Amino acid sequence: MKEFSTLAEWSDALKSGVVSAVEAVNFFSQRIHAIDPKLNSFITDSTVEAQEEAKKIDARRAAGEVLSDIAGIPFGIKDALDSAGIRSTGAAKILDTFVPTFDSTAINRLRSAGAIVIGKQNCDSFGHGASNENSMYGAVSNPWDVSRVSGGSSGGSAAAVAANLNVFSIGEDTGGSIRAPASFCGVTGLKTSYGRVSRFGAMPMASSLDTVGPFAHSAEDVAIILQHIAGHDPLDATTAEAPVPNYRSEISKPISGMKIGVPREYFTDELDTTIRARVEEAIAEFKKMGAEIVEISLPHTKYAIATYYILVPCEDSSNLARLDGIRYGTRAAGQDLVHTYSASRTAGFPDEVKRRIMIGTFALSHGNFDAFYVQAQKVRTLIKHDFDEAFTKVDVIMTPTTPEIAFKFGDKTTDPVKMYLSDAFVSPASLAGVAALSVPCGFAQGMPVGLQIIGPRLAEELPLRFGHHFQKITNWHTQHPAL
Ligand code: GLN
Repeated sequence: MKEFSTLAEWSDALKSGVVSAVEAVNFFSQRIHAIDPKLNSFITDSTVEAQEEAKKIDARRAAGEVLSDIAGIPFGIKDALDSAGIRSTGAAKILDTFVPTFDSTAINRLRSAGAIVIGKQNCDSFGHGASNENSMYGAVSNPWDVSRVSGGSSGGSAAAVAANLNVFSIGEDTGGSIRAPASFCGVTGLKTSYGRVSRFGAMPMASSLDTVGPFAHSAEDVAIILQHIAGHDPLDATTAEAPVPNYRSEISKPISGMKIGVPREYFTDELDTTIRARVEEAIAEFKKMGAEIVEISLPHTKYAIATYYILVPCEDSSNLARLDGIRYGTRAAGQDLVHTYSASRTAGFPDEVKRRIMIGTFALSHGNFDAFYVQAQKVRTLIKHDFDEAFTKVDVIMTPTTPEIAFKFGDKTTDPVKMYLSDAFVSPASLAGVAALSVPCGFAQGMPVGLQIIGPRLAEELPLRFGHHFQKITNWHTQHPAL
């Protein structure tokens, strides 16, 4: 096997017996132990358990059983998704000792198909952040430059794929948490549309926006993983009953004659000129492949951050109320019940989580509810209408994933609003509930730049198809950091 192989390549090698699952797990365990001390992308190492799983896969294959295309493939999971028998902290000390008795649905489906969990990955606590600096287990370094952030909140999952510490990762995206770190670390990451992949067992942040999706080396790899995790789940009433297409065949269809919308609101004078150049060069490649470029407008884009940072804290403040130190997780000693709650929550949550709980509680309180929560819901509907309208004219929309490259540690930690503004290009698609992919499209100052390809709700195959065709004619996704 070459040092950096795709999921498709690992899958063929495992199937034909060129490598065994035990060898695959050994390969990645060694890399994790040698490289991860520089990155801090894992919170919990499950390489020992992975060995046992790998032996079972090899034995089944040796007995002639025909296994799935991901059997024996080692993968990592953002620590905000529950995994049976493996500690799941959400990167917050309040769940430092929490070992779930069940798997989240996405993880269950992957494990049932024979994929092997190699560890739980670092992230901003419960997904709150854009840099991974809000983890209570330390920040994650960017594999391209360890003095820079990996992005957030699923930074560990993106860094682990970029550094080739596992074949793929499963993350969660509420407002950019898959796309932004994918862009910062130079990997391919998909925010699935709302309802495409079950949220059961994903620690809830903002339940009306939370989505689960993959990080991998290519759009084709993402399609393979999505095939396993997509589809209705009786345990999550918000999953769609819609049929799941065959992604691998869908993404191979041609793109000539298809329409790409380029929204002028994302290409203002404030956009970094190098990022703009990389994204425009990428869009020009699609034109060469026969796609038509159409200028469009998403007029409510400028309200997305304000809307997102009302609705998300509101949902947060209610979702996080369950973490009280009584039912599960870590309890701090208190003199009475109320003091036990407050001591557990004071010690167990980082500042950013407390900030969101307070903002949300404020916005939901009597006298503020209409002015903040109800108003934000109305603006959310306008943002969604922008996308509905655009998709009557174009097949996909292309934008930069982030307004800047991975920044230095500490650059935004003293100003939460500065951190929130990093989500300017990723939050609109989240509020609209549509599908969005980030693919590497070049470099600026030696750091990866991401192209965001947005498609309609439940049409992941469209961004994946454009991403796949782009990766057939470019090699940005096959560049790897020297570690
Ligand atoms: N930056 C976003 C936030 O802090 C990311 C959230 C997410 O996608 N989990 O809310």
